[in-house]
Amino acid sequence: MAKLKIVKVGDDTLRKVCRPVDTITPRILTLLDDMVQTMRAANGVGLAAPQVGVLRRIVVVEVEPGEVYELINPKIIAFSGEQEGAEGCLSVPGQWGLVKRPMHVTVRAMNRHGQIVDYTGSELLARCFCHEIDHLDGKLYIDRAERMLTEDEIEADD
Ligand code: ZN
Repeated sequence: MAKLKIVKVGDDTLRKVCRPVDTITPRILTLLDDMVQTMRAANGVGLAAPQVGVLRRIVVVEVEPGEVYELINPKIIAFSGEQEGAEGCLSVPGQWGLVKRPMHVTVRAMNRHGQIVDYTGSELLARCFCHEIDHLDGKLYIDRAERMLTEDEIEADD
């Protein structure tokens, strides 16, 4: 496994629409492993392939330690409710913004074995699914944030 470099806001890579994965190759499996390692090393709860410079529709999410979601070609197939909360991004270091997201989200994706699986998440997991899938279409949370948090507000959260 290898830790990958995380692309930061301002890089065009983050604004591109990613291509779907047709076949699970050894390269894709290595990428999934490397993305999980990179996310953990950066203390993140999610990471999308464009954030490591790969324009493919792949995300990893780990909100609860040890509960890893590896989502290939993920699509949101259902959502309900609403939540508003602070959101950050490994590609936008040191900043947080207030973002509205659905409270419950169901995602359909392919797993590393090529099976199509549905996952339903609420609260932070739902927020994370939305945030990471946005990355695959070149969208960042700073585009959706109602406002960015001030340094005082960020410190109050620590
Ligand atoms: Zn992000």
